[in-house]
Amino acid sequence: MIETKTLSFRTRSGTDIIDITKEVSEAIGKSKIKSGIVSVFVTGSTASISTVEYEPNLINDIKRALEKIAPERGDYEHHKTWGDDNGSAHVRATLMKPGISVPFENRKLLLGTWQNIIILDFDTKPREREIILTIIGE
Ligand code: ZN
Repeated sequence: MIETKTLSFRTRSGTDIIDITKEVSEAIGKSKIKSGIVSVFVTGSTASISTVEYEPNLINDIKRALEKIAPERGDYEHHKTWGDDNGSAHVRATLMKPGISVPFENRKLLLGTWQNIIILDFDTKPREREIILTIIGE
């Protein structure tokens, strides 16, 4: 069986990292499907989905690491294409990927104790983000 649900989240500009574990867990809790896999996918090319131990110092470490790999004020070819200013956001989003899949059993996500599901929004302006949950199982 397959079920599709959409969640939406408001994000701020820059690298905004939001814990969405509660919302995904609630969606799985209300699902008709008891056990399987949930694909968590963000639409758009300047945001990503991942997991992390959600504590403020580590969130800063991740921001700092990404700033070294694709600096926000760097020089990007993409800026010549559309006059955009978000080359860094696109590079970060591709490296971090748009989605993950998480197994669940008896309507409970099989995450580690300190493992939270996050959206990383890298865009240079606030956005309304759509997260597509595709729940597959029986
Ligand atoms: Zn762009």
